[in-house]
Order: sequence, then C-alpha cells, then structure tokens
Amino acid sequence: MRVIYKTNCTNPGCGHSWNITVTRDDLSALASKLVCPGCSRGGGQLRSEGRLKATSRTSYYRASLVFPTLDGITGKLKDALATAGRANTR
Ligand SMILES: [Zn+2]
Repeated sequence: MRVIYKTNCTNPGCGHSWNITVTRDDLSALASKLVCPGCSRGGGQLRSEGRLKATSRTSYYRASLVFPTLDGITGKLKDALATAGRANTR
C-alpha cells in the first residue's frame, strides 16, 4: 500500500507540480521538511487537500507544499505546548 500525493508548490512564481510517493517505510518524509524540485525552496510541509481516488494498492491525494510563516510556526508551538500541558495534568 502506498500513497501518491499530486503536489503543487505554493511558492509564489513557482507552481511546480510533481508526485510524492509515500510508502509505509517512509512516513517520516511527511513530517520532515520538503524541498520543491521546481524552485529548490526548502522548509516546505506537505498539506493534504483530499483524496482523488484509490485503488487496492495506491491512494491518490491532492496536496500542496506550503511554506509556513513564522506566525504559523509559533502558533503550532503554542498548540503543542498547550497539548503537552493538558497531558501533564492528567
Ligand atoms: Zn516551487
């Protein structure tokens, strides 16, 4: 079983589209920072935007490579800290 993300780069002026294939063995690729092969901008994150179709072996998703702003990163850190705080109080 594998997932293919039909990915579009959201870097202004790029818009490169390509497929990212993810198998069970490289799930960490989704969590790591990705580099656009079109404009070589790094630090991107894969954002799934819904399933296109699925066969018995492969699922296809539409996705965007987004480049989080500093605000976005800070917000995520706050969320993570809040989650960790709740977990510690239980
Ligand atoms: Zn790009």
